[in-house]
Amino acid sequence: MKIMKDKFKTVFARIFIPAIATSAVLIAFLAAANYSMLDRIYLSSVRKMLVNSSGLISGSISENVPFEKISKRCAEFGKKSGIRTTIVASDGKVVFDSDVDSGSMTNHLGRPEIKRALSGERNFSEHYSNTLKTKMLYIAVPAGTAVDGEYPYCVRQAMPLQNLSVAKKLFGYEILMLSAAAILLSAILSYFMARRIGMPLKSLSLAASKFAKGDFEARAEKCNIPEIAEVGSAMASMAADLKAREHSLTRRNCELDEIFSHMSDAVFICSSEGRILRMNSACAQIFSISKDPPLQTAEALRNSKLLALIEKTFDSGSETSAEIEVGSQPQKTFSVVGTMLPYESRVPRAIFVMHDISYISSNESLRREFVAGVSHELKTPITAIGIAAETLEETENPSDRRHFIEVIQKEVERVNMLVDDMLLLSKLDFAANMTGDFGELNVLSVIEEACISHQNAAEKAGDKISVDCDDGIYVKGDFTLLQIAVSNLIGNAIKYGGKGCNIHISGVRIGGDVALTVSDTGPGIASEHLGRLFERFYRVDKGRSRALGGTGLGLAIVKHIAMLHGGNVSVKSELGKGSSFTITLKSL
Ligand code: ADP
Repeated sequence: MKIMKDKFKTVFARIFIPAIATSAVLIAFLAAANYSMLDRIYLSSVRKMLVNSSGLISGSISENVPFEKISKRCAEFGKKSGIRTTIVASDGKVVFDSDVDSGSMTNHLGRPEIKRALSGERNFSEHYSNTLKTKMLYIAVPAGTAVDGEYPYCVRQAMPLQNLSVAKKLFGYEILMLSAAAILLSAILSYFMARRIGMPLKSLSLAASKFAKGDFEARAEKCNIPEIAEVGSAMASMAADLKAREHSLTRRNCELDEIFSHMSDAVFICSSEGRILRMNSACAQIFSISKDPPLQTAEALRNSKLLALIEKTFDSGSETSAEIEVGSQPQKTFSVVGTMLPYESRVPRAIFVMHDISYISSNESLRREFVAGVSHELKTPITAIGIAAETLEETENPSDRRHFIEVIQKEVERVNMLVDDMLLLSKLDFAANMTGDFGELNVLSVIEEACISHQNAAEKAGDKISVDCDDGIYVKGDFTLLQIAVSNLIGNAIKYGGKGCNIHISGVRIGGDVALTVSDTGPGIASEHLGRLFERFYRVDKGRSRALGGTGLGLAIVKHIAMLHGGNVSVKSELGKGSSFTITLKSL
């Protein structure tokens, strides 16, 4: 039913139906008008004919023409024309009738049409003839020469109107057939006219619905109606424009997607209902959840501080920020900024960007630890210097005074060493860009230079130093720094290896690396200390280290120098057997 209704709403139907209806009404109206005109035309032609024939007859009646001759002429005329002619004398007596015997006819003086004709007035009248069983049209005209306005005769002629109904039937049938043909013709014309306008419009509508589905290549059929052709070309240029816009939007979307998914910062978009609408890979990785739909609720992030920040962002409607910790091994610190998205949507949305600030936090805690360590390290020598200085003031005995002066000198030297080591560490902290100045170094030269500085101390301790390194091993680096690193390791071996210790220094190429090892046959280091040995101020035995003039920074310096050269340092040690420290560097 609905389909039928829709069919009547099409452009084709809206043009075809009114066009055919209008032409049908017009044709019917014309047919009816023509049909009704038939009566008048027929009657007027019959009248004309009666006027002419009655004129002829009345004109021929005169006193000079014998009446028999007139009667004969009238009888002939009646036979040929089918017109009944009656001649009535002024006294009403019928003197001639072409169809009936005049003698048997009644006096006609009482008939109004005869009366009016005898008075000189030509007139028409219609009667039903019982004799001929048909309607007749009569004409009565005066004849002869009038005396005082009265004519001696009156000619009456009558013509049956039965031909009219026959003609009407025939004519009606013809009109009907013609009307039907005209309606059929107008239907055909209306069909082609509706089709000519309807088809291009349908094609336009089809093209428009294809555009709506994203097919911008669709085009309406060519049409030679200028207005429709104009709409078609406007639609085509609109489609081309839309296609270009869609293309640029898709490209922009892809670019934004790329940026979004490759951002190192974690990003997620959350609705005020607490649903995560989108997140990037970094975010999914941090919270160990899937970034693909269906996405979780904010609860899945399992972070109460973050949930509180989300709530605060939606409550305040402005930018909010907080620091949150995520994970346990290792725990990471993020700075999170939440911003409301300005674009209109059913539910308000906000974007949260999480920036990893763990390194800042760890640097901060390292810095705090370092300051605490330095303060602690300085306190002991400064206190010792203070006490020695005070006692020195009160002491008169020259040998005691010399002792306290020596104490002061020793502690000052310790502070000096500490400051030197701290300055070197600080230099190393900022030396990441120093690598450009590195040159080619012969590893054996580095080892020999380091050994020279320890010769006296080794001799004093009764230690033996042996070196095993090929002359042809080269690395890229800074000679002084690498010499300091090896020197620190040799110094530790002498300090902590005990008297008569064997110290062996080797430089070997292993694959693409050079392993520079300083091993000793000293007491070794318990395994629980090995993991923290390279931390600043870490000592196995604090008292012994201090007594031996250690700053607690020697191995930290070695580690930094190795790292600065793109290498690392490791330790192996066994209690009672000795320790072995290896710096691994890239070989040239
Ligand atoms: P320090 O200035 O105290 O020597 P280091 O950082 O050089 O500081 O060394 C840290 C600690 O590691 C030392 O205090 C010491 O206890 C231990 N250590 C270092 N080298 C050796 C070694 N060769 N044998 C035994 N212990 C060592």
